[in-house]
Amino acid sequence: MKFAVISDIHANLQALEAVISDAHSNDIDQFVCLGDIVGYGPQPRECVELIRSLDCPIVRGNHDYYAVGRGDLTTLHPDAQSSLEWTRDVLDDQDKEWLAALPFSRRVGRFLISHATPRRPNLFGYIHTVSQAREALQNQKVPVCFVGHTHIPNLFKHTEDATSESCGKPTILSSTARYLCNPGAIGQPRDNDIRSSYALYDRSRNMISWKRVEYDVEKTQSLLKRCHMPASLTSRLTSVA
Ligand code: ZN
Repeated sequence: MKFAVISDIHANLQALEAVISDAHSNDIDQFVCLGDIVGYGPQPRECVELIRSLDCPIVRGNHDYYAVGRGDLTTLHPDAQSSLEWTRDVLDDQDKEWLAALPFSRRVGRFLISHATPRRPNLFGYIHTVSQAREALQNQKVPVCFVGHTHIPNLFKHTEDATSESCGKPTILSSTARYLCNPGAIGQPRDNDIRSSYALYDRSRNMISWKRVEYDVEKTQSLLKRCHMPASLTSRLTSVA
């Protein structure tokens, strides 16, 4: 069984279509989605429809949560706030009902999926550091958990002796360790590579690898401008440090 693990689509349809096409060319059996389907990007309805058509396990992200009217938008960065206000207006009732029914985390066979730290996924805590990963992994009951949220692809490995971080290289998982894997973001990468990122999880070989996919960034940017989104959301799609 080969999974394509996708996350943080952020209403970027051009990026999502490119990743789905690339995943199919890698002979995957099933998609798994870690949430943040909407928010920031210009095509939330189209992305909800396409993700629904994949008929795959999905969890909700913080942007999906805010987009259906939950949470206090005034606590967010002004750019996120204005994009979510716009997204709330664009989504119809059916889209919102579907997003509102998504779980915060769920098991998929022998692994777990969660948008944020799986210890308390409804709080949407980030896993940026080895110590944050260690805290989550010490309580993790399954060998592998996939998380999104940071938009940065990586892999944390935990054994009795140590917790470590690696990134990017295909990795055969050890049966004596536990792992937290972030596939990176489809719709708004934040690791100085503007291409979309996702992960392949080959269960039969117990191997994780990461893929980068080019998409029509300029088209997404022109759609963002037409929606009168903050300019920083447009420039962020092509900015590297
Ligand atoms: Zn996100």
